[in-house]
Amino acid sequence: MLKDLFRKQKKYATIPSEQAKRDIPEGIMQKCPSCGSIGFTKELEKNLKVCKSCEYHFSLSAPERIRITVDEGCFFEYDSDLLSEDPLSFPNYRNKLKQDMEKTELKEAVVTGEGTIGGFPAVIGVMDSRFRMGSMGSVVGEKIARAARQAATKGYPFILFSASGGARMQEGVLSLMQMAKTSAALEQLHRKRVLFVSVLTNPTTGGVSASFSSLGDINIAEPQALIGFAGRRVIEQTVREKLPEDFQTAEFLLKHGQLDQVVSRLELRDTLIQILDLHLSGRDHNE
Ligand SMILES: [Zn+2]
Repeated sequence: MLKDLFRKQKKYATIPSEQAKRDIPEGIMQKCPSCGSIGFTKELEKNLKVCKSCEYHFSLSAPERIRITVDEGCFFEYDSDLLSEDPLSFPNYRNKLKQDMEKTELKEAVVTGEGTIGGFPAVIGVMDSRFRMGSMGSVVGEKIARAARQAATKGYPFILFSASGGARMQEGVLSLMQMAKTSAALEQLHRKRVLFVSVLTNPTTGGVSASFSSLGDINIAEPQALIGFAGRRVIEQTVREKLPEDFQTAEFLLKHGQLDQVVSRLELRDTLIQILDLHLSGRDHNE
């Protein structure tokens, strides 16, 4: 009929076929692993990857973390050319490194550099759990130690975001040595009275939780982050005791004095700016 030509709405609704539904490009929608609600990825990204229903914090890549923390266009990367070796000739290690480099477009599991946050200069380190689970090998340890040294030399506060499965088993004892190396570099920073803020994100475990990430002058964590040294099962078997449900969460650690604050990602940048501001004005006062 003629009037149908002028109808704004289509006469027939199109129902996407099962095939078409499957063809929806991956990544447009995302499901929250905590509460199961489904939302647009773009909306989620606008909310800094925090679920609007339950406040679950999705993990962030290092570039994403830098983008939401550092002032726009104000990040200068350190040591981007450091590459891991395969000192123990561990089977398939080189291959896995190569795959992770392609997947993440990073060279290692931590990005370090300097920039400004709310106008305050700082040295910044961000671990990326997509790269070998954010494990700490020689290069990760070296980059963190060098960043701490830069902070000590320049007198800029050091802010380090952890996200790690712990030591990197493919580098054996060399990986464990990074715990001592990073801790020693932070001790130097401490002696120079330069502020170190550790931000623990989900997950921060093993050798990373047992070294630099617990050594902040201020230790902050994101809500519900898993933080601990050994896994629940290993501890339960060792101590032969049932552990509390919320054991190893940020909130549990806050309650027991291991953390100074649990801060939602939506307020984290402002909190850091406030800390940097207080620190700077406090220091000016003392000089
Ligand atoms: Zn949720």
